[in-house]
Amino acid sequence: MKAPKTMPLTVITVPCLSDNYAFVIADPATGEAAVVDVPEAGPINAVLAENGWHLTAVLLTHHHDDHVQGLDDLTGVAQATVYGAKADTHRLPTLTQALSDGDTFTLLGEQVQVFDVSGHTIGHVAFYLPGIAHAFTADSLMALGCGRLFEGTPDQMWDSLLKLRALPDETVICSGHEYTAANAKFAVTIDPDNTHLTSRIIAITQVRDAGRPTVPSTLLLEKQTNPFLRADDPAIRAHIGMPSDTDAAVFAEIRGRKDRF
Ligand code: ZN
Ligand code: FE
Repeated sequence: MKAPKTMPLTVITVPCLSDNYAFVIADPATGEAAVVDVPEAGPINAVLAENGWHLTAVLLTHHHDDHVQGLDDLTGVAQATVYGAKADTHRLPTLTQALSDGDTFTLLGEQVQVFDVSGHTIGHVAFYLPGIAHAFTADSLMALGCGRLFEGTPDQMWDSLLKLRALPDETVICSGHEYTAANAKFAVTIDPDNTHLTSRIIAITQVRDAGRPTVPSTLLLEKQTNPFLRADDPAIRAHIGMPSDTDAAVFAEIRGRKDRF
């Protein structure tokens, strides 16, 4: 006899501010919930209240205000465990659990793996839950994009993206912003003959016209279409005239072109 299947966790994408996303992860069986990033408290508190869930954990990806500033106003935050990067304790809100690359912890009965994904900032972390095939990547790997390099080098971001690219194709990528339509306009300048990209752009337009989020996506779709994951793709290399440079150099060129786009 098979063991009875436990009820899976629910993950809700929560639009915040003008273009941020937080994610509520909940176990409907127990009513316990966690949130990844807190751009503002109101929409997150509303999701908790509507469902009768109570907050037990907050996961912070990086120190930027638009990812942490709502923390103090979250309902029940005083009883919640706050997780974030040990490397950033000096500039994150007060943490109850400081994490480093390779750490694991248990959240709502599921294992969470911590990845250092520095680049956008030094100390940016991503959270991967293999049991539900979700990765919370905020401003590292984004839908059809990656975060701007405010603190790290292109080499660091490329290494970070390679860690995420190594996850299973079916991994659901929960990233931090609705930048996808703008990212698409850039992506076609790098990878114009990619039919996966052309199809994705049609889908993005439909989703945005309907007022819905393009986030989350899947890792497979990002591998097929996201130019920042494709610095080793021969067609992209040929198109930008860098057939024999290192992958990191090609990534740096693509990132530089996006900054000037
Ligand atoms: Zn940021
Ligand atoms: Fe951000």
